[in-house]
Amino acid sequence: MYAMTPRLLFPLIFLSLTHGADLNAEPRTVVKIASKNAAAFVDTNDAPDLKEWGKRAGALCVTWFPKVAALLPSEGFTPPKEVTLYFDPKMKGVAHALGGKITISAVFVRSHLDDMGMVVHELTHVVQSYPPGGPGWLVEGIADYIRIVHFEPQAPRPKLDPAKASYKDAYKTTAMFLEWIEQHHTAGVVVKMNAALRAGKYQDELWSKLTGKTVDELWAQFMKSLPPTP
Ligand SMILES: [Zn+2]
Repeated sequence: MYAMTPRLLFPLIFLSLTHGADLNAEPRTVVKIASKNAAAFVDTNDAPDLKEWGKRAGALCVTWFPKVAALLPSEGFTPPKEVTLYFDPKMKGVAHALGGKITISAVFVRSHLDDMGMVVHELTHVVQSYPPGGPGWLVEGIADYIRIVHFEPQAPRPKLDPAKASYKDAYKTTAMFLEWIEQHHTAGVVVKMNAALRAGKYQDELWSKLTGKTVDELWAQFMKSLPPTP
């Protein structure tokens, strides 16, 4: 679910920036949305029907940049403050983030117009700024943790099947596991895992160091905590 932010402390500024240096190319207009703390550049040139949606997504990024940065701090880290949103008309799948650029499938957005949570997930990847090498399931799990716990806490959650589910399923499954650890076992694990991943120092042993349990033991305990399936 997407709710408009009721009142912003600082107004967002919307600017259209036109690039047309190459005389043979069509000029491309990028909308810049900025606050005092962050900026988003929205490029819907290749999917012009999504211009308004793109502006909403950009404004959301500007508003959520400082929030996600505050949720995922680490020593000596200065979080990025700028992001580019590019809407790709040919891309399959949903979206991906690379460096400060989020590429979003225009086809996906057209059939999921209420999916602003996906934008927060991708923005989290921009803030994570992890070097390669960390386990993908945890990187994706933290991105969905920010999404489902902080951005859309009211949204329905998937039902996990203990016979099939694994913490390595990533996304919402891992996010719900992290939430359970934070609430019922050891608070602060997400921030510490984030710092380790960002420093390129993640190891499986960290789970026992931080919680006294291996990740498999924690998962087994989480599965036992689920209500029995009828
Ligand atoms: Zn992701």
